[in-house]
Amino acid sequence: MRHLYSGKVRELYETDDGTLLLVASDRISAFDYVLSTPIPDKGKILTQLSLWWFDQLADLVPNHLTEAPIPAEFAGRAIACRKLAMLPVECVARGYLTGSGLADYQNGSLYGSRLPAGLVDGSRLAEPVFDPDSKAPQGEHDQNLTPAALAGLVGADLAAELERITLAVYRRGAEVAAARGIILADTKIELGVDAAGTLRLADEVLTPDSSRFWPAESWQPGRSQPSLDKQYVRDWLTSPASGWDPTGSQPPPPLPGEVVERTRATYLTAFERLTGRQWNE
Ligand code: ATP
Ligand code: MG
Repeated sequence: MRHLYSGKVRELYETDDGTLLLVASDRISAFDYVLSTPIPDKGKILTQLSLWWFDQLADLVPNHLTEAPIPAEFAGRAIACRKLAMLPVECVARGYLTGSGLADYQNGSLYGSRLPAGLVDGSRLAEPVFDPDSKAPQGEHDQNLTPAALAGLVGADLAAELERITLAVYRRGAEVAAARGIILADTKIELGVDAAGTLRLADEVLTPDSSRFWPAESWQPGRSQPSLDKQYVRDWLTSPASGWDPTGSQPPPPLPGEVVERTRATYLTAFERLTGRQWNE
């Protein structure tokens, strides 16, 4: 087994037969930093949730999963997959407006869409929109892409295909989540091309690290929404309690035990509500 790459959250290994192992650690990132405090079981929860979603999406788009065995040391936290030529694009779909999508809307630059005036934080869009970013090299911010820039990067045909797949994954994800009382506000997928030229869904899919999940019962446009992801960590880091300045040059401080526990519980809630399964690790 050869170590290929350390991402913010995952370690990539290649086995002797060319299988790729995507091993999810318990690391958590926020504000483009990897925090010094891990969230116990987060890697396993993300991996199991991704595997479950790949199954739910299998009729929509081919994916990168293979049947290769997982080494015991990575049990539960690794995905065995094909090594793909990854497209340098983060394919984002938004069904609700918040975060960077809201900021782009407010300064008139939301990619490829003409949205009505008067939308607020948490507003539902009449139709989901495709809002890709270019995948920045490690340590740099991802950049918004215009339609022309995306077509320039991957060609017009592939750009159209990425939009179609991204919106189909969003719609399926939103439908399944809605049946569990959860709003899928937005999501990010990554795709790659295999040796035969087939476009495949890769990386992780519809996890709290790649998506915003809002409990439907608390959704109320016009404010930020309670969210089943690392929002609690971000809120703590930007609160006076952390003593940290997000605009400064210092890395964030360690997380207190209570913040770790609540964050772990949030990831577990997302897994259990979406899949309808109990977490029993
Ligand atoms: P970065 O790559 O900027 O660190 P990240 O923090 O999201 O992004 P991780 O999720 O930690 O990265 O690592 C996963 C990496 O593996 C990503 O770079 C992703 O593009 C890549 N990847 C996912 N699936 C495949 C695949 N089938 N073949 C090749 N690379 C893949
Ligand atoms: Mg990632």
